[in-house]
Amino acid sequence: LFAGPVSFLKGVVSMEGLPPGDRVEVCFAGRSNVGKSSLINALTGRKGLARASNTPGRTREVNFFALGETHYLVDLPGYGFANAPVRTVERWQKLMKSYLAGRPNLRRAFLLIDARHGVKPVDEEIMDLLDRSAVTFQLVLTKTDKIKAGGRKRVLDQVRERLARHAAAYPEILMTSSQTGEGMATLRAIIAGIDSQ
Ligand code: GDP
Repeated sequence: LFAGPVSFLKGVVSMEGLPPGDRVEVCFAGRSNVGKSSLINALTGRKGLARASNTPGRTREVNFFALGETHYLVDLPGYGFANAPVRTVERWQKLMKSYLAGRPNLRRAFLLIDARHGVKPVDEEIMDLLDRSAVTFQLVLTKTDKIKAGGRKRVLDQVRERLARHAAAYPEILMTSSQTGEGMATLRAIIAGIDSQ
C-alpha cells in the first residue's frame, strides 16, 4: 500500500467538504506537538506531506490523503493548545464529533501520545469521544528515541492502565519514533491489513 502513490487530496473545515466515504479510512489524532506530522511523513516516506499546525488561533483543517487506490489517511487537527481561544476549542470539538460519528468507512483511529508525557486529561477526553462514537482506536507512543529503557516500561504501564477504561480501545500499543523509524513498518502493515471487508 505504501509503495504506491500517496497524495494530498483536500483539507476540510466542515462536514460538507468531506470526500465520499468510498475507501477504507484511518485517522491520526493527538495533542499539538506530539509528532503527528513527523510520523505521517515518516510513515509515507514523503517529507513535507503533512505540516505541523502550530498556530493556536487559526482554523485548522482535517486533511485527507489518498493512499494507493484503496485507503484514505486522515490527519486530524492537533488539540490541547495551551491558551487556545474557547471558540477555537468549541469549533474543534464540533468538527471532531461530527466527523467521528458520521464516517462509516472510518475503520481505526490512531491516537498519538508522547512517550515522555503519557496520557494527559485532554487525551482522555478524546478517548471518551472515540468510545461514544464507537470508533476503534489504537494508541501510538511517539518519540521513543527520547526515553530510556526504564522509561518505556513506566509509560507503557501508565498507558495500559488508562486504556483499560475505554471500550473502543485496541489492546496493542505501538512504540514509534520518526527519528529512528521504530514502529513504522509495523504501523504500515497494520494499515495495509485493514481492508474493505
Ligand atoms: P505535530 O504538531 O504533532 O505535527 O508535531 P511535529 O511533527 O511538528 O513535531 C513536533 C516536534 O517534535 C518537532 O520539533 C519535531 O522535530 C519533534 N519530533 C517529532 N517526532 C519526533 C521523534 O520521533 N523523535 C524526536 N526526537 N523528535 C521528534
